[in-house]
Amino acid sequence: MTCAVLSDIHGNFEALEAVLAKIDSLGVDAVYCLGDLVGYNADPGPCAELVLGRAAAVVRGNHDKGVAGLLSLDWFNPIAKEAALWTRGNLGPQLLERLRRLPEGPRLAGEGVVLCHGTPMDEDAYMVDAASIAESFRCLDERFPRTRICFHGHTHSPLIVVRREGDRKASVLRGRDEIVLEAGSTLLINPGSIGQPRDGNPRASFGIFNTDTGVFQVVRVAYAVETTSRKIRAAGLPPELAWRLAEGR
Ligand code: ZN
Repeated sequence: MTCAVLSDIHGNFEALEAVLAKIDSLGVDAVYCLGDLVGYNADPGPCAELVLGRAAAVVRGNHDKGVAGLLSLDWFNPIAKEAALWTRGNLGPQLLERLRRLPEGPRLAGEGVVLCHGTPMDEDAYMVDAASIAESFRCLDERFPRTRICFHGHTHSPLIVVRREGDRKASVLRGRDEIVLEAGSTLLINPGSIGQPRDGNPRASFGIFNTDTGVFQVVRVAYAVETTSRKIRAAGLPPELAWRLAEGR
């Protein structure tokens, strides 16, 4: 079985459309989503509809919660807060209700596959250093001891971490975009962001995992960044949100 793992779409319709076309060309069996369907970009409604119609399993992100009124926007920086308020005003009551009902991570999406937005401990926390990685493995060992692969998002940068059988410490595989899950290993994987990549590469980022071969790959897809930027400016959203897309920052 082949699964596509999507994260941090953030209302970027052009990027999501390009990713879904790629997924269709690859013949994927299931789509999983790690949250942040909305926020930042100008097409929250169409993106939420597409993802919710397509995904076999979803967990909510902090922007989904903020827009739906489940998280105080005081936690957001001024630009993210302005975009969240705009998004709340531009989603109908039905979609807002669907965002409000999105499940909290971590959750199991299949045999040994765990989904979360930030970390397995805290959906709003960032997995960015050795301490958060070690704590994530500890949390999985306790709560989901059969985990083979835990997908997370939130940082908007792809990341592959492996803990091999017998290892005391996990290894961060910097710059790698592919790994084979070996017997006895556990992986922590961030597939990157579709709607606002921040690793210096403006192309939309998502993941493909084959449960039979154990192969995971980060896939990058070019999309019409100019169109998305134009929509952001036309909507009256903060212009910084348009500039950063072209740079992938
Ligand atoms: Zn995000």
